[in-house]
Amino acid sequence: MITPDKIVYSNRKSLAVCVDHFGKVTVRAPRKTGEKHIFAFLTEKEDWIRKKQAQYAAVSVALPTETLDGYTFLLLGNPCTVRLYDGKKIAFQNGEVFLPKENARKRLVKWLKENAKRIFTAVTAQKAAEMGVTYKSVSISGAKTRWGTCSADNKIRYTFRLLYTSKDLIEYVVVHELAHVRHKDHSKAFWQEVERYVPDWKSRRKRLKERGALMEIF
Ligand SMILES: [Zn+2]
Repeated sequence: MITPDKIVYSNRKSLAVCVDHFGKVTVRAPRKTGEKHIFAFLTEKEDWIRKKQAQYAAVSVALPTETLDGYTFLLLGNPCTVRLYDGKKIAFQNGEVFLPKENARKRLVKWLKENAKRIFTAVTAQKAAEMGVTYKSVSISGAKTRWGTCSADNKIRYTFRLLYTSKDLIEYVVVHELAHVRHKDHSKAFWQEVERYVPDWKSRRKRLKERGALMEIF
């Protein structure tokens, strides 16, 4: 049996269920829906819910606590541990990032964005040359819902949170956005273009989807 973590009643007409990246189950229901009805609905959806929860559990993400000191997260696939110290500068060595105690979280995000800019700019230039496409610019956002975008005038934007994934997934997102220079949609022609440079794009796309919880780190 599935017990919902949250039930949201509204003026909607039918029942719906969603599973977030941490495996939490939210039911959306029309006002005055009886509990019996909701549980029957969840039983019907149980297999789907369990499958989603298993997918997300496979990519467990421990979020940072308030103190931050000692927190370990993945940076380009390698563990990186936060060490707060009394110094003034951010230093990174041997899988440890040394952070000044003051405004630690803010400074860490700034540092991540700077690194994202440098790394994603380089990968984009390299892939664009391979693909024979040109783009206007690369910028970094703090988006939590999408890994990358390509505007109508070919300005490419990535969330710095892509740094929490791995090189192969970053490469997939870069090729995906660059393929949008030629195709402004997700048509068959678009995916063929992606496939030319990332033959296993389907599995990379799937893994990226399963890593949505990473968006919540910092
Ligand atoms: Zn797209």
